[in-house]
Amino acid sequence: MSDKLNWIRAELDALRTNNLYNTIRTIDSPQGAWIVVDGKRVLNFCSNNYLGLANDARLKSAAQEAIRVYGVGPAAVRSIAGTLSVHVELERRLAEFKGVEATISFQSGFNSNGAVLPALVGKEDVIFSDELNHASIIDGARLSGAKIVRYAHNDPEDLETKILETGEYRRALVVTDGVFSMDGDIAPLPQLVEVAERHDMLLMVDDAHGEGVLGRGGRGIVDHFGMHGRVDIEVGTLSKAFGVVGGYIAGRREIVEWLRQRGRPFLFSSAIPAADAAACIEAVEILEDSTTLVERLLENARYFQGEMRKLGFDTGATETPITPVMLGEAQLAQDFSKALFENDVFAMAIKYPTVPQGKARIRVMISAAHPREDLDKGLEVFGRVGRKMEVLA
Ligand SMILES: *Cc1c(COP(=O)(O)O)cnc(C)c1O
Repeated sequence: MSDKLNWIRAELDALRTNNLYNTIRTIDSPQGAWIVVDGKRVLNFCSNNYLGLANDARLKSAAQEAIRVYGVGPAAVRSIAGTLSVHVELERRLAEFKGVEATISFQSGFNSNGAVLPALVGKEDVIFSDELNHASIIDGARLSGAKIVRYAHNDPEDLETKILETGEYRRALVVTDGVFSMDGDIAPLPQLVEVAERHDMLLMVDDAHGEGVLGRGGRGIVDHFGMHGRVDIEVGTLSKAFGVVGGYIAGRREIVEWLRQRGRPFLFSSAIPAADAAACIEAVEILEDSTTLVERLLENARYFQGEMRKLGFDTGATETPITPVMLGEAQLAQDFSKALFENDVFAMAIKYPTVPQGKARIRVMISAAHPREDLDKGLEVFGRVGRKMEVLA
């Protein structure tokens, strides 16, 4: 049958032929160290649930109580009649936790980038963006209409060169991921701050993988480097270490106030439900009460990565619990992931276009929820599959 969708069928076939087709697995259990995937119980090395909060009893009862009080839906966009007192309370608690003047929450981290970039820069402006920035930063930057200049990954000198090469503009903004999600390396924030300050530009960091991981008790990359007050905009997500869903912008009072007036996802899309906001407040409280979970996460990551290197795996340039296991070709990464799954370990292959061609990998996400015996089980299976597939000697 020849019709308007033939090109899609051809594209899908090409993805399958090139091992770039994304097979989406279905989970039938709460998120935790072990999960049920497509009916099979497996060790979970895939989730961003860094601290194990996604199925935490305290978060669940906070959510249940909020449903009792507020019901399930916000019933309107926030600027009309959908701002609940739990949203306001969450923003206040997040600002305190992050040590900033104010925050504004959105439906997701993705939407937060789509809100803030177009609100701060436009056609006459320029965005200097790390070449490996997250897709949501790239999309937010495109949506803004500003000129986008990419600088070499984590390279403040190249940023400076690009700034000096760029002609006339009205305003400028420098933007970077805090922790890069595919490699686990950290942006050189102090040097980026210096460059941005020297050229009087706004500086924005997306801390999605830094929150709950870096800094005192998981306060994030700005705290990690002691740069409080020198980063204008922090983007956060509530769907990774916080274990729930949502996103936010943290920073100066004027920026947050401006986003309440001009952040389009705030004005034109309903907010996260009360239950999620209440669960997030509980997560902030847990992080403020104790650093135990963050310490366990870092200890687990240190142990697992050290043992993987001893086995002979290349874990790339990671400085965080994100653990890339570099394999090279998409086919190998795909087969490796499949073999792990057959041995009850769930770790996904990451391929082009998420990472460059020839840099396919398995990405292992370590969490505080993994007891030592789970890490050892994972190491044993990785070793066995690695030898069988001749990745290891
Ligand atoms: C995961 C991620 C996001 C998206 O967060 P969601 O809350 O899932 O939309 C945004 N930016 C970066 C850098 C991320 O890693």
